[in-house]
Amino acid sequence: MLGDKELELTDLVQRAENTFETNFKKKPQWVASAPGRVNLIGEHTDYNGGYVFPMAIQRSVVLAAAPSDETGENGETIVNIYSHNLGETKSLKIIDNKIKRSLTWTDYIAGIFAGFLALGAEIPSLDIVVDGNVPLGGGLSSSAALEVSVATLLEAVTGKNLSALDKVLLCQKAEHDFAGVPCGIMDQFASVNGKKDHLLLLDCKSTKAYVVPFENPDISILIIDSNVKHQLANGEYAKRREECEKAAEILGVELLRDVKMADLEAKESEMDATVFKRARHVIAETERTANAAKAMKRGEWSLVGELMLESHASLRDDYEVSCNELDLLVELVMDCGKSKGVLGTRMTGGGFGGCTVSLVPKKILEEIIQDVSARYFEKTGIQPAVFTTRPAQGAQMVKQ
Ligand code: ADP
Ligand code: MG
Repeated sequence: MLGDKELELTDLVQRAENTFETNFKKKPQWVASAPGRVNLIGEHTDYNGGYVFPMAIQRSVVLAAAPSDETGENGETIVNIYSHNLGETKSLKIIDNKIKRSLTWTDYIAGIFAGFLALGAEIPSLDIVVDGNVPLGGGLSSSAALEVSVATLLEAVTGKNLSALDKVLLCQKAEHDFAGVPCGIMDQFASVNGKKDHLLLLDCKSTKAYVVPFENPDISILIIDSNVKHQLANGEYAKRREECEKAAEILGVELLRDVKMADLEAKESEMDATVFKRARHVIAETERTANAAKAMKRGEWSLVGELMLESHASLRDDYEVSCNELDLLVELVMDCGKSKGVLGTRMTGGGFGGCTVSLVPKKILEEIIQDVSARYFEKTGIQPAVFTTRPAQGAQMVKQ
């Protein structure tokens, strides 16, 4: 799904501009881009107000756009959008400063338009090409990349500039209200605020982030897409959120992030065993995430790796959001040898499929990719998709 060949951002921009010219018979006036993200550690902590530790990746959604003269029968604003990835054109109508959901991929875009309209922005008719190399639905947040690229474009088009946090919140609201996904703020935050060669330790309660350098040239960040997505993901996500709320209620706090492990243990007898396990994951994971950031800052790479492995075990056993394919990938990567310098690996994203993220020595990167891919295929009959990334810059206007 990820495609073997890395497309550099400049190539992607070129492709989007060419696609725009072919489709709309004119040159784009604006080009905006926003990256996907990967979370190194801190899973299912965001909606509990805990820490997450993501970075923007070298894969982006790019938009090429220009004003258009087209209007609806009653003078309505028309937005034509062609997705190069889906090979499909859709049109949105803005009527009386309002835009509707249509239960398709354009909702991620319409939600951002709605956010700008609510701020009183005047949006002209537009033609837009969407192109990108973040896999759709692979857990690397193509949805946030799409939302943030649209918000970045609309800032340039309307002249309405948002603070970074307001932009993040506007995009999150679009995902909630238009796409119907009750996500935390991590994905949009990383796509807006990503910093080259840095990870972001984000405190999801205060929304403050601390940047941590990742400059070690000997360590590669390896992302492996299991190429499975089990259907129970959405329903189980909602269940986990309810279980966390239940635990917080019993513990008398608003967010699980404010609980110490000893407080949880003291209330174990008052809790359903499942609710207890869920809370144990969240509390331990928040601590692990803060510790991983500290360890990285000090260059204690083996500790970072250990914490990633603990995180995976906790997601598998206590939070129960892993699956056989992700567990297998984790096992296969570690089989490549701690003694050879493999640091750690874990599932990343919501779970039930999607990707793993691993820290591995650059000098045996190719060997690991070959070995893990072959053995994963042998056991599952599925070809995984693999790529490496360095922490990338957040959203930007490429042309305006
Ligand atoms: P993820 O964010 O992990 O990639 P989601 O299910 O949250 O997965 O979001 C994927 C959805 O976002 C796609 O199904 C599609 O609706 C929309 N999307 C993302 N990128 C594009 C694109 N380039 N063209 C059209 N739709 C896109
Ligand atoms: Mg998403």
